[in-house]
Amino acid sequence: MEFKVLDNGFIRLVDMMGNDYAAVKAARVSYGSGLKTPERDKKLIFYLMEHGHETPFEHIVFTFHAKAPIFVARQWFRHRIGSFNEASLRYTELKDEFYLPDHIRKNDKTDKQMATIIENNELKNKALKLIENAFENSYKIYKELLDMGIAREMARIVLPMSSYTQFYWTVNARSLMNFLNLRADSHAQWEIQQYAKSIAKIFKQKCPWTYEAYIKFKYKGDLLNKE
Ligand SMILES: Cc1cc2nc3c(=O)[nH]c(=O)nc-3n(C[C@H](O)[C@H](O)[C@H](O)COP(=O)(O)OP(=O)(O)OC[C@H]3O[C@@H](n4cnc5c(N)ncnc54)[C@H](O)[C@@H]3O)c2cc1C
Repeated sequence: MEFKVLDNGFIRLVDMMGNDYAAVKAARVSYGSGLKTPERDKKLIFYLMEHGHETPFEHIVFTFHAKAPIFVARQWFRHRIGSFNEASLRYTELKDEFYLPDHIRKNDKTDKQMATIIENNELKNKALKLIENAFENSYKIYKELLDMGIAREMARIVLPMSSYTQFYWTVNARSLMNFLNLRADSHAQWEIQQYAKSIAKIFKQKCPWTYEAYIKFKYKGDLLNKE
């Protein structure tokens, strides 16, 4: 299961352990019982979510492969409850591939966490040209340093934050819900929102009851329930 995100990125579900039933079975171990009817099992998931019994959802685990700009990965890696492994620019050479937005935003005057898309085409094109020039320039210098025999770990210091990186992220459903609360929300940066929205689609497809209960009782963001 894979979604293309931004101009050159993606999010792909590589592996998964458990599903809605894993949470039900984990919760019922308390009473020494297991699955019952689908109606009762679904009802239990809603009960757990509504009353804040979230540990059973830790038994549902996802492994994602993501390709995202470095500045998005930096925000993502702040989510400590999960495991990350990232491509190394010490061992591999970066491809000539950067995130170039299809729009330009300006800071909101009142809310520091918000930015609004500008409609002024002249300003947009000027900003995009400057950004593209910076990419070209830094990549040219990067290659030049490598050609001079400078180590990859040093040459990379000239690369922009919009360079694409790739990583594996293994995360349980409880932590994933926390991620969605914070990143599938208009206060998060637009770019990470796009990844969060795709992750939500995967979560919904793989754990429909848990997702439904989450949106009903726990979701704190403002993007998902509008879709
Ligand atoms: C809109 C937005 C703006 C942000 N701006 C900034 C910023 O300017 N600067 C900045 O540094 N960060 C910023 N962050 C990152 C933010 O502070 C969190 O680091 C990030 O969102 C991860 O959230 P988390 O700690 O809940 O997730 P996780 O690290 O996955 O933790 C999940 C939960 O586990 C518990 N937990 C984890 N570790 C600990 C611990 N050590 N002690 C106690 N409980 C723990 C907490 O309940 C936590 O909610 C921003 C995040 C957002 C969404």
